[in-house]
Amino acid sequence: MKIINTPKELSAYAKAQKDAGKSIGLVPTMGYLHDGHASLIKKSASENDVTIVSVFVNPTQFGAGEDLDSYPRDIEHDCTAAEAAGANVVFHPEPGDMYPAGYGTYVSVDSDMTKVLCGRSRPTHFRGVTTVVAKLFNISAADRAYFGQKDAQQLAVIMRMVSDLNMGIEIIPCPIVREPDGLAMSSRNTYLSPGERTQAPVLSRSLSAAKKLIDAGERDVKTLRDEISRIISCAPDADAEYIEFRSFPSLDECGGRISGKVLIALAVRFGKTRLIDNIIVNI
Ligand code: AMP
Repeated sequence: MKIINTPKELSAYAKAQKDAGKSIGLVPTMGYLHDGHASLIKKSASENDVTIVSVFVNPTQFGAGEDLDSYPRDIEHDCTAAEAAGANVVFHPEPGDMYPAGYGTYVSVDSDMTKVLCGRSRPTHFRGVTTVVAKLFNISAADRAYFGQKDAQQLAVIMRMVSDLNMGIEIIPCPIVREPDGLAMSSRNTYLSPGERTQAPVLSRSLSAAKKLIDAGERDVKTLRDEISRIISCAPDADAEYIEFRSFPSLDECGGRISGKVLIALAVRFGKTRLIDNIIVNI
């Protein structure tokens, strides 16, 4: 497996692959890889001749006072994990190579979908995400890019960008990988204290309970939200930031009753750690 550190070198590598008729899959990550990331890399490796995994803690998607400096990093582990999952390249650029002096271009999905859910507490986040992802698409010349449903709003926003800007890349959504107790895998889970970690499965537990009610015929948003809220409040340190019901991928708010493809999305704080989780149901 190759490790490439500059956009210029990755562009040259990608061009050589394309010239040789190879298909390219891209898995954008911020590193500290876990089995959720590995599932994306494995899927890409099974569907493309070449898989590029980017490992880049992207400064433009962090707001002031967020965890840019403390975000966990371990590039040696990431290279081992990426290679084991089938990656051909790890792309690990410096911030100064992605955003050199004079940098001034941003890609921004200018619609409510970036202002709701996580966009409410992170107003500049999605602009940073779409900017870096657009850059990675250009640098890697990928045919397909793999994103986890774990970040369902991010997935919806990227699908919007790709459609709006006629980017010739296929977006492949991938299911959420969970710990044995249901907690969605996340690099940020390492922030949880042991006590918070034992409480954190309330997110997935509350979503499973909502799914059970829906399977039994419940459609009322208030009833479903109350049940989710009740289960989350069983965890003494949990502070729910939002519990929302939105159509997927448009992210329009559901009225009183759910129908069609519905995203049930949560953000819950445990002390300084903010966890997100979701399910998508089809009614
Ligand atoms: P991150 O490194 O957190 O920016 O995530 C990189 C990619 O991995 C994104 O597309 C995420 O949605 C995806 N991802 C993160 N956690 C999981 C998980 N538990 N299951 C599936 N995909 C995930």
